[in-house]
Amino acid sequence: MIKCKEAVARLWSYLDRNLDRVEEQELEAHLGLCRHCCGELEFARQIRGLLRRTAGAVEIPPAARAKLDTFLRELEGSHE
Ligand SMILES: [Zn+2]
Repeated sequence: MIKCKEAVARLWSYLDRNLDRVEEQELEAHLGLCRHCCGELEFARQIRGLLRRTAGAVEIPPAARAKLDTFLRELEGSHE
């Protein structure tokens, strides 16, 4: 059984599917028994999802961006 420190060190690689089979199985066995590392995995997964969403937001299509600009202008206007 691997230790928490090793499990946490492997989490990101695990999410990126960069672990070999043995490493992955060791980690999954640990996560099945260790609540602490399970929480860490969820945290890592959320951060990763967040980073992905942020990266995706850079590529807003022009039409969507125009709509967003209009929407923001209307919002600003409603304060006057
Ligand atoms: Zn652990």
